[in-house]
Amino acid sequence: MPKRRAIIDYDKCVPDKCAPNDGICVAVRACSKKIMEQEEPYEPPMIFHADICQGCGDCSQACPLSAIRIA
Ligand code: SF4
Ligand code: SF4
Repeated sequence: MPKRRAIIDYDKCVPDKCAPNDGICVAVRACSKKIMEQEEPYEPPMIFHADICQGCGDCSQACPLSAIRIA
């Protein structure tokens, strides 16, 4: 069975909406493995290091707009 990992749905990811005050992605912060990064506040995060994603779902649970799924 293929390993499960986080996938960002960029149609749903709107940093202006989820973090209007500081533009900081809470899903990035929620990942203890530091797999996602945001280049700048108010930019959607990108997944680096997908190979070490545990598929734990912490990022997905943290995102208020349900923009991350585990598949
Ligand atoms: S992944 Fe979720 S929490 Fe992060 S910027 Fe996008 S909508 Fe906001
Ligand atoms: S599923 Fe877990 S390990 Fe993977 S990016 Fe999300 S929080 Fe990090």
